[in-house]
Amino acid sequence: MIPFLDLKAINAQYREELIEACSRVIDSGWFVHGVEVKAFEAEFAAYCGAKHAIGVANGLDALILTLRAWKELGKLKEGDEIIVPANTYIASILAISENKLTPILVEPDAENFNLSLKSITSAITSKTKAILPVHLYGKISPMKEIMALAREHNLLVLEDCAQSHGAMIAGKKAGTWGGAGAFSFYPGKNLGALGDAGAIITNDDELYNVLIALRNYGSHEKYKNNYKGVNSRLDEIQASILRVKLRFLDEETERRQRIARRYLQEINNPLIKLPISLAKEEDVWHLFVIRTGYRDKLQKFLDENGIQTLIHYPIAVHKQQAYLEFQDQSLPITELLHEEVISIPISPIMTDAEVSFVIEILNKFRK
Ligand SMILES: *Cc1c(COP(=O)(O)O)cnc(C)c1O
Repeated sequence: MIPFLDLKAINAQYREELIEACSRVIDSGWFVHGVEVKAFEAEFAAYCGAKHAIGVANGLDALILTLRAWKELGKLKEGDEIIVPANTYIASILAISENKLTPILVEPDAENFNLSLKSITSAITSKTKAILPVHLYGKISPMKEIMALAREHNLLVLEDCAQSHGAMIAGKKAGTWGGAGAFSFYPGKNLGALGDAGAIITNDDELYNVLIALRNYGSHEKYKNNYKGVNSRLDEIQASILRVKLRFLDEETERRQRIARRYLQEINNPLIKLPISLAKEEDVWHLFVIRTGYRDKLQKFLDENGIQTLIHYPIAVHKQQAYLEFQDQSLPITELLHEEVISIPISPIMTDAEVSFVIEILNKFRK
């Protein structure tokens, strides 16, 4: 069986170093917000090319707290409209509604899966206050153009980078284009902890100052609370693990990119539509998502041949029970994508032979 993502084998590559990192924390006797978190924040900010990184408990909190901080700073208020791609993972949209802001779901570009300028432009109203681009599947959005549009309309930009650690376009990394970038280090992400973890990056000192308080009960100084904050702290063990894995992230990304290149060159079945990149060599291929009008049949065929696949995502957010208020919206591109997408294995530990086998089986598929 070629597993979709073998986390056991991925982490086994670094077993000794991960154990050493955990031991260091156990021996220190300090488990929350200490030297490891500080060091990881500095290392991750440097890796991304940002001034600050703020460790938090998970990726959803990274998104929620950034929007919350902009509310505290008076840059957003309840009811403001935030433009977000309709085909994203639900977390991007939950972060907006959690803050009592209004998500404006817009269609993605069908070939690239990300926000297109055209769809953003037609969604802008006098109530629009921010754009939340999601670099879905590790493919970066057209950030230069999005930032120009945001400047023209005086909009905030929060990048959802949960699937795009290290992705780059025009020489600038994901998360450094907008006012802030929100990252998840959920175990299956390109940079994955051994549990939940997340971070926000920003060059904005004012935003940074609010965020470091919000994640810690709204407090800058012990027992003195400036905001009604939350507990969303990154712990020392996860930070120590992320410090180890960050050192290997570029190497792992290169392996994903090599596999993606082979898939793009060698899969040539007319029943299968391959993804299109805006920045081929700089996408980080969190997922390799293909499209076909015969998805169930293809998934069964791959399974019979020992290839595990997943669907990202089977149900659109506007069709979820949680968002009945959106159920009447017509988003035909988004709905079609949810019927046609299927994610094939791509991971830093796949062998050349496994990649060849996946290609061979995909090319054999007939309707
Ligand atoms: C994983 C993910 C999140 C949420 O991250 P968690 O750490 O699971 O909270 C947000 N947005 C996108 C696009 C994701 O893929």
